[in-house]
Amino acid sequence: MRSAIVTDFLRPLELCERPTPHPGPGEVLVRVEASGLCHTDIHAAHGDWPVKPSLPFTPGHEGVGIVEEVGAGVVTPHVGDRVAVPWLGWACGACEWCISGWETLCPHQRNTGYSRDGSYADLMLASAKYVVRVPDGIDPLDAAPLTCAGVTTYKAVKVAGVRPTDIVAVFGVGGLGHLAVQYARIAGGVVVAIDVRDEKLEMASQLGATYTVNALREDPVAFLRDLGGADSAIVTAASPGPFRQAFDSLRRGGRLVMVGLPAENTIEVPIFQTVLQGITVTGSIVGTRLDLTEVFELHARGLTKVVRVTRRLDDVNEAMRAVEAGEIDARVVFDMRDVEAAGVRDGVTAGTVS
Ligand code: NAD
Ligand code: ZN
Ligand code: ZN
Repeated sequence: MRSAIVTDFLRPLELCERPTPHPGPGEVLVRVEASGLCHTDIHAAHGDWPVKPSLPFTPGHEGVGIVEEVGAGVVTPHVGDRVAVPWLGWACGACEWCISGWETLCPHQRNTGYSRDGSYADLMLASAKYVVRVPDGIDPLDAAPLTCAGVTTYKAVKVAGVRPTDIVAVFGVGGLGHLAVQYARIAGGVVVAIDVRDEKLEMASQLGATYTVNALREDPVAFLRDLGGADSAIVTAASPGPFRQAFDSLRRGGRLVMVGLPAENTIEVPIFQTVLQGITVTGSIVGTRLDLTEVFELHARGLTKVVRVTRRLDDVNEAMRAVEAGEIDARVVFDMRDVEAAGVRDGVTAGTVS
């Protein structure tokens, strides 16, 4: 099978042929149809984070495909089912976080495309219990970005506790942010989208943002303060500057939800303002299997749009460069089914009612 692997944090990914794996007990073998390129894959390939993946590895945690083989003891899914293989590749199912609905915080978790091989490959192994069924009628090219960008921002909007009269600032309108805008709208919030590229802001307006701010030309803090301050600010940018801007633009009692994971790991948070203004600073990491099921349900009902361009896996290094340069509206999806067709299926698609 074809696979794109990281062999060195300082070198491009390599395309290679690897032996087809076979599922062990509790595992399934998935033939990948579509695999999104999350900015996390770029951090992983660069070794940007305090905990690094061990080399070599195959990135990719927005994998969608068809179950081809099941291992011993697997009850569901069945051969032929379409499933999504998310970042939360496996959790223990027994710790206090797993049993209280916070499996995403399981200290024993394994992460797809990071601590186990991911979806930048024709075939991948996954834990049967941690894949999520993709409903019929959802295009796998849409399902892929929903599997991380979708579930992560859907959860972030839940964590923000968005109420219908809230002003919600979304900093960064890329793969994650373009879906954050939509989930914040679905929750009823008035959305202010902030980015550094006009095309992204145009996209944010089309997806339901009421206001947009280009942070290169206008100060988002002043803009949001003029509106009375943000009730919540969801930061998906991959650089630290917007995190501090987001903090400064909050209303009293507001909530900063950190989602982006920049290589530069710190910002300064003033204690006095945090205390006197009752600010909450929180992190939000992906979402549970149930969150992802809800994300698919919203898409199947036609309530969300996935903005994407398709690429061939062969072009993985060029695709990563384009994402880092901010050139992509909004997600790159590798079409693993038909390499010739990839590139002609670009576009904005709405969910279809199944
Ligand atoms: P992306 O590159 O598609 O989007 C980032 C966006 O931020 C781009 O639109 C870019 O133009 C914008 N941006 C850059 N500088 C900015 C600035 N100064 N102000 C405002 N916007 C700015 O990346 P993505 O795939 O959406 O991922 C974003 C981040 O989220 C990455 O760090 C990734 O690792 C992280 N992430 C976190 C989770 C989680 O569970 N917390 C899940 C997935 C990804
Ligand atoms: Zn991701
Ligand atoms: Zn656990």
